[in-house]
Amino acid sequence: MTDIIIKSASHILTMDDAGTELAGVDIRIRGGVIAEIGHGLEGGELHHAEGCLVTPGLVNTHHHLYQSLTRAVPAAQDALLFGWLQTLYPIWSRFGPEEMFVSAQTGLAELALSGCTLSSDHLYLYPNGARLDDTIAAAAEIGMRFHPTRGAMSIGESDGGLPPDSLVERESAILEDCIRVVDAFHDPAEGSMCRVGIAPCSPFSVSRELMRDAALLARDKGVMLHTHLAENDEDIAYSLEKFGCRPGQYAEDLGWTGDDVWHAHCVKLDGQEIDLFAKTGTGVAHCPCSNCRLGSGIAPVRKMRDAGVKVGLGVDGSASNDSGNLVAEARQAMLLQRVSQGADAMSAREALRIATRGGAEVLGRPDCGQIAVGKRADIAIWDMSGIEAAGSWDMAAILLAGPMKTRDLFVEGRKIVSKGTLLSVDLPVLIEKQRKLALALAM
Ligand SMILES: [Zn+2]
Repeated sequence: MTDIIIKSASHILTMDDAGTELAGVDIRIRGGVIAEIGHGLEGGELHHAEGCLVTPGLVNTHHHLYQSLTRAVPAAQDALLFGWLQTLYPIWSRFGPEEMFVSAQTGLAELALSGCTLSSDHLYLYPNGARLDDTIAAAAEIGMRFHPTRGAMSIGESDGGLPPDSLVERESAILEDCIRVVDAFHDPAEGSMCRVGIAPCSPFSVSRELMRDAALLARDKGVMLHTHLAENDEDIAYSLEKFGCRPGQYAEDLGWTGDDVWHAHCVKLDGQEIDLFAKTGTGVAHCPCSNCRLGSGIAPVRKMRDAGVKVGLGVDGSASNDSGNLVAEARQAMLLQRVSQGADAMSAREALRIATRGGAEVLGRPDCGQIAVGKRADIAIWDMSGIEAAGSWDMAAILLAGPMKTRDLFVEGRKIVSKGTLLSVDLPVLIEKQRKLALALAM
């Protein structure tokens, strides 16, 4: 296989341990790995990056890709979390395998165009024959590194839960299918393109027993655990009333802390819970746009980072963002800390570090998230010659100015976006398929 050389990058944010920034150097990619960084590299296929910023590919740690079919649903536009869910559940109950596949491709395509090379997904409902397999097939076609999680809900309306009974599953069937998808698709190897996680939807949509059994199963299989935690005030009140404790305590009691666990949102973690997460290596998927959109609050990311908690970024599902642009999400993360903590609370560089290296750490991928020899060649090239960056004094402060779309994107050394165009899938055809499915759901 021919080497690939990214030539003469004007500025490189490596996101290595020392935070090294380089100017005017080349990057050699060989066999999906960064093989060499230096001046005057030759002997390979050249991809010129003069006038460009080069960063590691961005990492998305929380998404519900299926929701790209329910963006901007009028009745859910201004609802709080629980009301929002009750509006959307009946629509989602009409999904099937095709809806899952097309919506996943749409969400992943949008992420790729915004510089994302690795995404997790949290799929927790399986109506009408839909399977996790549908989203895995979608990601393979797009060419993105993918960490799908087998989500689940088991407490339906008749048991006092929020979702309609048609969207919940028996807990024994959930565990069986978790085993099936881990055995079929999980690849623990370095450079893996697919790692499966286990992810009951939230503490209020499954039983205490399933939370505990999911943790035991994940440890047995050597896979990661993921769920929603401490998202808003209603969430905390529910935990205190039903479980008699705060979410952090509930998680700890059931085996849901550790460096193989990451929780989405964590907007309402208190000081003790932040210390617990830091001490145990438990990760957080920070979803600033979704938190704003649903009025959930401002996650204490500054405090988490200062305490040593691993934090990554998530765009969250497209029913609560409703955009899936990951670099825009990083900008929002930076702005949101500033609005509560002051202008020096988070720099553009730190927010971009959270979006790259931070996400890779949360997902247990030390082989990704930085531009260094021996790391996987997941790289985004940002064209700084456009209108968004015209007049910028600091190319690396991309989150202050722009652009908000990548020019070129490499995943495992393979180019999947070139000159702002997705190479792997015909985007106009995909958009038309998605439009037709959304129209049918709206009828
Ligand atoms: Zn979510």
